[in-house]
Amino acid sequence: MKRIVFKVGSSVLTETNSIARERMLNLVSLIVEVQKKSEVVLVTSGAVAAGYTALKLDRKKQITKKLLAAVGQPILMSSYKSKFDIYGVDIAQILLTEDDFDSRTHTKIFQEIIDRALENNILPIVNENDISTTPDQLFGDNDQLSAHVTHYINADMLVVLSDIDGYYDNNPHENPEAKIRKIVNEITDEELTQQHTPNSDFATGGIVTKLRAAKYIMSKNKEMFLCSGFDLTVAREFLIEGIHNQGTLFTKKN
Ligand code: GLU
Repeated sequence: MKRIVFKVGSSVLTETNSIARERMLNLVSLIVEVQKKSEVVLVTSGAVAAGYTALKLDRKKQITKKLLAAVGQPILMSSYKSKFDIYGVDIAQILLTEDDFDSRTHTKIFQEIIDRALENNILPIVNENDISTTPDQLFGDNDQLSAHVTHYINADMLVVLSDIDGYYDNNPHENPEAKIRKIVNEITDEELTQQHTPNSDFATGGIVTKLRAAKYIMSKNKEMFLCSGFDLTVAREFLIEGIHNQGTLFTKKN
């Protein structure tokens, strides 16, 4: 059975200071559909953004950002839970830090937990443990976290559902002629040194962190698909119908 990791960003999950319930419900229903043929793990951002819906503290300062994550993580999970309950899917919350990936013992523990969850038809929902970690134990953005999860749990593909609907051949904000590159086989170092450009206040990434994740994924001979998380038509076509109309597939295969 194929194993697929989904990654969804804060800007997709929140809108005007509350959880974007309809978008989350669409995501949940897509995951349930994909689960019929594949094992699925979800990496979700949105804890800090969800915390901010309840508490207006400074999200730029380290301690208040952690408090927002602490407040927001249960808001986020209960929102997922009520939606997965509709489909009778049980979920498990798994919070990881960079340290979980650099020691054999630590890594083995989370790999086994995820394997065991999947064996028991439980959907693992992963986020970074923003709360108790020091800055050097943090990935800082879930693009890298999800790429590492994909490799370490031996998944086949990472699907990034983002406010960026693909990797363009030119900056789409400056050039209306810019087109989405459907297949990318290689990422140069130059492409990785562009400016970071997160599109929303809560997003940590931008195209560069996606490209870094894609480069890592390709170096492990796996694939990454980047498409819109706002409208899941493209993701659904690609994953359910096997049609690649839009979105970018990063793959070593030609
Ligand atoms: N872990 C952070 C959160 O849940 C998000 C990190 C990111 O934006 O990638 O808010």
